[in-house]
Amino acid sequence: MSNPAHRCLRIHPTDNVAIVVNPGGLPAGTKLEDGLTLTEDIPQGHKVALAPLAAGDAVRRYGVVIGNAVDALPAGSWVNEQRLTLPAAASLKQCARGPASAVDPTPIHGHTFQGYRNPDGSVGTRNILAISTTVQCVAGVVDHAVQRIRRELLPRFPNVDDVVALEHSYGCGIAIDVPDAAIPIRTLRNLARNPNFGGEVMVVSLGCEKLQPTRLLGPGKIPIRAVSTHRPPPDADGVDVVCLQDESHVGFESMIDSIMVTAQAHLSRLNQRHRETCPASALVVGVQCGGSDAFSGITANPAVGVMSDLLVAAGATVLFSETTEVRDAVAQLVTRAATTQVADDIVNQLAWYDAYLARGGADRSANTTPGNKRGGLANIVEKAMGSVAKSGSAPILGVLAPGESLRDKGIERGLVFAATPASDFICGTLQLAAGMNLHVFTTGRGTPYGLAQCPVVKVATRTDLARRWHDLMDWNAGRILDEGLTLQQAGEELFRLLLEVASGKRTWAEHWKLSNELVLFDPAPVT
Ligand code: CA
Repeated sequence: MSNPAHRCLRIHPTDNVAIVVNPGGLPAGTKLEDGLTLTEDIPQGHKVALAPLAAGDAVRRYGVVIGNAVDALPAGSWVNEQRLTLPAAASLKQCARGPASAVDPTPIHGHTFQGYRNPDGSVGTRNILAISTTVQCVAGVVDHAVQRIRRELLPRFPNVDDVVALEHSYGCGIAIDVPDAAIPIRTLRNLARNPNFGGEVMVVSLGCEKLQPTRLLGPGKIPIRAVSTHRPPPDADGVDVVCLQDESHVGFESMIDSIMVTAQAHLSRLNQRHRETCPASALVVGVQCGGSDAFSGITANPAVGVMSDLLVAAGATVLFSETTEVRDAVAQLVTRAATTQVADDIVNQLAWYDAYLARGGADRSANTTPGNKRGGLANIVEKAMGSVAKSGSAPILGVLAPGESLRDKGIERGLVFAATPASDFICGTLQLAAGMNLHVFTTGRGTPYGLAQCPVVKVATRTDLARRWHDLMDWNAGRILDEGLTLQQAGEELFRLLLEVASGKRTWAEHWKLSNELVLFDPAPVT
């Protein structure tokens, strides 16, 4: 007798594998509803062959070939990564650039959140003082100052959520004039202008570094002032720069005083801001996944896809990224591009990344972690098909190269491919630079990931993870499997949760003050 509690899930009608749903997996001899008997133990999230496979047969999941069988396998076998070959990457040269096939979602109206309006028209979901740094050399001094600002100044400015230092390992000892240096430099420039920082830009510089403040901020655009305790900060209509090597600084304490006097002027301006009712169209939501498992592509990522379509329908901007995880979905992305220019831009970003990997002697098998494989993801093709589901079904309106911002490209709404590595912290950093004011992060294996600059809503793919990590995960997509929640209902719930978090509701990562460091993408040589 088969037991209805023993469940396997087939995603697409043409698939010849299904995914074991039960926590703890299913033992050899388990009889499934359709009469299939498992020939061996199969862990949760892993694939079972629904029909006999001959050596070389295509294995299909999501309706696409994720690999070929290495040896013959009877029906009911465990199809794991050792038993599958990795298919060759789709050619970028032969991508069809036909007319766009995706249709704009029907607009929805009336959704709002409580946000902080900025002078440039963007909206913050948090009210944070960010202190930019030109070089790693100043990090220790800035950390010391930030601790004192939090302790001594922040309590006097109750409308300001936090003060954060934008620290990094860049700024000196680098080949700053090579073409690829543009990526880390524009990333830092755009990070300073993230909507959650209220248009206030404050920089701490060393003085002798290669990345001079004018280069960080863009030459000729912004007045630069060296500020010290001896020269009180003027009314800032632009940017304040504290230079540690300024001759007026005598001793460590005078550097700290300069930073604190400057910070105080910015804090008092930020403190005058209040949340106002803003349309949902002001949201810039970055979607990402990390620590993925085989359920990422069944529950959390498709639910995020529905949420993404709702955001686009509301006029908001959605950033999807992780170049190595969408590379195998290039055919889908190109047909969803709104214009041939966007299709070309997508292909150019993927080709640039192929060349970058090749230059480092890596290939696409470099993506997928031991945890991914334990979770049932055999290879990057299987991972990519689940990952790209986060982007929903809307047309792709624009493309950002790594470190570029929506402002740089004049993009004001819609679904955007922000090309970034898949690395969680690098992707998050680049999405912040793009202008993200809210982050949605799905995970199956579990990660405590967070950012100090922007709220991160974490979505668990499985109820088991949501239960064990009940005070780290913000939403449980496992209910799609356990409680019969439809993807549409799931996406709508997530959409509503986003509006609450954008309005100030704290995420678990914010509750515990968990945040990862910013990590720049620097493909240029160091010296
Ligand atoms: Ca990632």
